[in-house]
Amino acid sequence: MNHSNLDIAAIKARYNIVDVAARYFSVTRRGVRSVALCPFHADRHPSLTLSPNHASYHCFACGAKGDIFSLVQQMEHCTFMEAVARITGGTFTTQTPHALPPLPEAVLSPETAAENARFLQRLIPYTPACAALREAYRTLEVGIAPTSPAVPPYETYSLRRLAGRLIFPIRSKTGELVGFSGRLLTDGASPASANKAAPKYLNSSFADGFAKGAHLYALHRALPFVQQTRKLYLVEGYKDALAMHAAGFPNTVALGGTALTPQHIALLTSLAPQLYVLLDGDAPGIAAAQQIAKQLLHIVTTRIYVLPDGEDPDSLMQKHAFGWFDLFLSDK
Ligand SMILES: [Zn+2]
Repeated sequence: MNHSNLDIAAIKARYNIVDVAARYFSVTRRGVRSVALCPFHADRHPSLTLSPNHASYHCFACGAKGDIFSLVQQMEHCTFMEAVARITGGTFTTQTPHALPPLPEAVLSPETAAENARFLQRLIPYTPACAALREAYRTLEVGIAPTSPAVPPYETYSLRRLAGRLIFPIRSKTGELVGFSGRLLTDGASPASANKAAPKYLNSSFADGFAKGAHLYALHRALPFVQQTRKLYLVEGYKDALAMHAAGFPNTVALGGTALTPQHIALLTSLAPQLYVLLDGDAPGIAAAQQIAKQLLHIVTTRIYVLPDGEDPDSLMQKHAFGWFDLFLSDK
């Protein structure tokens, strides 16, 4: 299910917010505005106002506000699309206009899952030079895969290739560890980075149950914040997502250097009605922005920001700390 052919405005116009609210709590119906005891704080007076004309609610005491979708999301702790289904009784139909073929599904065997868990445990936690980034790197479990002979060898070929690299563990939407992406260390300390021909990034293999294009980096961490804010930031790289999380935008996920896949589109459109895409200001970034715009603009409210040439969220974070983010993203 996605937002394709789904007219959000029409649903808002068709379902009275007072009727929707009355499914969950008692509402005193008045003409232009109805009132209720606010379900979002310990309310003693009816502080919540429901305005059918504006299809919105607002609590004067705790500040809770939104529309029928956020109301249902908060009452049911569900995703945006689940809220749409609850409101409409699932009576609308959707169809994907760009019928992209689905990717084959990768199967994560119990043996590989166990080996992944061991690989994660052996990572040496990575401490970035920029102190403001450290908490995000710790939370998202970034580490270096040790190469020391004291460490038992990694069992699978795809994990052996990642030894000596900076490792970004990849988890599914539900938090399951599905694979790793390993970046060359630039300090020349590892055998991998001594080899100039080595690719910058290597990933767990498809044979080991990792379908890179089926996941969005940091989604398991971003999810509660996406549900709370109904906004989702999409960036290109792992480091960009980490910088965004550190800068106070934990509702950020990264493509992880892949092109947008049908699975990504399904994930993105099921999560948030407001999508903010931050892409690098270089030629590939602009090309990616155009591709993303083509596929997403008609589905969700999407705003695309192309960053200054040669910059990405990580580089801007290192240069300007949090100031840039406040300036660029505030009130977005
Ligand atoms: Zn309230």
